[in-house]
Amino acid sequence: TDIVRVEELYKTYEGGVTALDGVTAGFAAGSFTAVMGPSGSGKSTLLQCAAGLDRPTGGRVFIDGTELTATKDTPMTKFRRTRVGFVFQDYNLLPSLTVEQNTVLSLRLAGRRPDRTRVHAVLDRLGLGDRLHELPERLSGGQRQRVAVARALVTEPAVIFADEPTGALDLRSAREVLTLLRSIVHDHGRTVVMVTHDPVAAAYADSVVFLADGRLAGSLRAPTADAVA
Ligand code: ADP
Ligand code: ADP
Repeated sequence: TDIVRVEELYKTYEGGVTALDGVTAGFAAGSFTAVMGPSGSGKSTLLQCAAGLDRPTGGRVFIDGTELTATKDTPMTKFRRTRVGFVFQDYNLLPSLTVEQNTVLSLRLAGRRPDRTRVHAVLDRLGLGDRLHELPERLSGGQRQRVAVARALVTEPAVIFADEPTGALDLRSAREVLTLLRSIVHDHGRTVVMVTHDPVAAAYADSVVFLADGRLAGSLRAPTADAVA
């Protein structure tokens, strides 16, 4: 079943640029999907609209049975904070908060108890157990992005949206973060939708959806282990 579904999505920005021109797509629970396409094809816009960070001009968005496009701003913000995780290219960590505090904040924003045991468990799992009290500026890019993943993961969201999560990383850190995203899906049953223009990054996903000029231009499913064997 699809945990995220967009139906006939249109987005025209002020000034008249049509970024989405009728996109219908579903993202299955427990899947890792890459959204690819040339620069300007509408990838970020699709992600922003699907995640409830922006409103489409037309069409409908469903996450885990809730129609975001029928939800007013305040409940939509609440829904985002409790049910959706985000990972961005530039990490978006709060610079004055430690690794632990950044992760606790995500729980607080979701209205959850700031359960330190839980926060430590997530950070441990992501290899940050010895960095709890560091500020982001003291971390490498790969470590910062792992904190961003921890922050997204700690609230146990229905889906994690990642927009070019490896765009600012060297290849080694990029592969580390991608391996992490894969294991979140395959070992922990989470759902990840990742925008990327990088074929190396897309190769970590189970399927790829291609956009061109704001339209779906095709999709690919990675061969399963069974099919390869
Ligand atoms: P991609 O992520 O594939 O590079 P985007 O979704 O960022 O594509 O952009 C799709 C189109 O919408 C582009 O032509 C871009 O210039 C335009 N666009 C994106 N954001 C805005 C905005 N806030 N205001 C006006 N035009 C925008
Ligand atoms: P906004 O006020 O724009 O709705 P929030 O107050 O919900 O944003 O979030 C504040 C900051 O915390 C943002 O930078 C956002 O990226 C980050 N954030 C909030 N919730 C999450 C989450 N579940 N996963 C990742 N980052 C989050």
